Amino acid sequence: AERIRIAIAGHGNLGRGVEAAVARNADMELAGIYSRRPPEQLKPLQAATPVFGMEALPGHTDRIHVLILCGGSKEDLPVQGPQLAALFNTVDSFDTHARIPEYFAAVDAPARENSRTALISAGWDPGMFSINRVMSEALLPDGATYTFWGDGLSQGHSDAVRRVDGVADAVQYTRPVEEAVERVRRAERPVLSTREKHTRECFVVLEEGADAERVRDAIVTMPHYFDAYDTTVHFISAEELARDHRAMGHGGFVIRSGNTSAGNAQVVEYALKLRSNPEFTASVLVAYARAVHRLHAMGQYGAKTVFDVPPGLLSSRSAEQLRAEEL
Ligand code: NAP
Repeated sequence: AERIRIAIAGHGNLGRGVEAAVARNADMELAGIYSRRPPEQLKPLQAATPVFGMEALPGHTDRIHVLILCGGSKEDLPVQGPQLAALFNTVDSFDTHARIPEYFAAVDAPARENSRTALISAGWDPGMFSINRVMSEALLPDGATYTFWGDGLSQGHSDAVRRVDGVADAVQYTRPVEEAVERVRRAERPVLSTREKHTRECFVVLEEGADAERVRDAIVTMPHYFDAYDTTVHFISAEELARDHRAMGHGGFVIRSGNTSAGNAQVVEYALKLRSNPEFTASVLVAYARAVHRLHAMGQYGAKTVFDVPPGLLSSRSAEQLRAEEL
């Protein structure tokens, strides 16, 4: 059978993860990497992979079955998503949860008009965690769902700390509160405040002459990002930050407990322990690219989310094989 031709739009952490993931799927090949930067500035994993400027995309519609959008959710995808869904079948990892409905609408219209299939907001959260929240709630309607994140480095919170006056560089880790996780696993269905679910830990490199106590205060009282949490701030050197804080691990749990009768509590748990957040996210995007290729062949156009995709379509095996081998 013809291999699925995947291309990458945007070559950051996620774009590099997609390169690695495509190489592990025998039914796929990488048609190219597209970037806003000059092609000679990019270093693909395989030297043979062609690299193009983003402006080449409109002329390459015949070379690509599915384009995986690896731009940032904040600035890139709101512009690139709707534009590229008019030209290609797409998959992206748009993760600004509050904006998903408007992003869906912005991608849906051009995709439908041009008979393309556009899967938005895949990854782990949104993505695999979303599926597990919906599934466990459908199975246990009388219950409560909890999502815990971490231990992991949060890009958005790290950026927020870097913008504080006097901060030269910083990273922020989100950690689940162990006691809260244990209570949820015991099916207590606790009511947990934000502060009771997660703690935040910051490692900060100060600018020359900055006042550490003022910086600490500005961080822990920052509205939305930190004020509702117990936050610890450590001051370290630039060398320590470079040496100890470059890993991109993350993960977390979706746990639901619910009662099927008064005496019987059931607990469903889905856990991820990720050494590389972008490589795992990219692996999810690549599996959904296979599903998008198949949905498009079935004439299912427009924007889709992970809730709309049957799990069998993600697998490289046929429906017959899956029935025989996995059911
Ligand atoms: P990133 O490394 O910052 O890359 C984002 C874009 O920035 C790239 O597509 C690239 O576009 C540009 N870029 C990258 N390196 C650059 C450099 N050295 N100089 C100039 N520009 C550069 O972000 P990422 O870690 O790949 O994450 C992308 C998005 O994935 C995040 O915004 C997040 O929303 C999403 N995400 C979702 C999930 C989920 O579970 N759903 C999980 C993780 C991440 P060009 O090549 O066009 O320049």
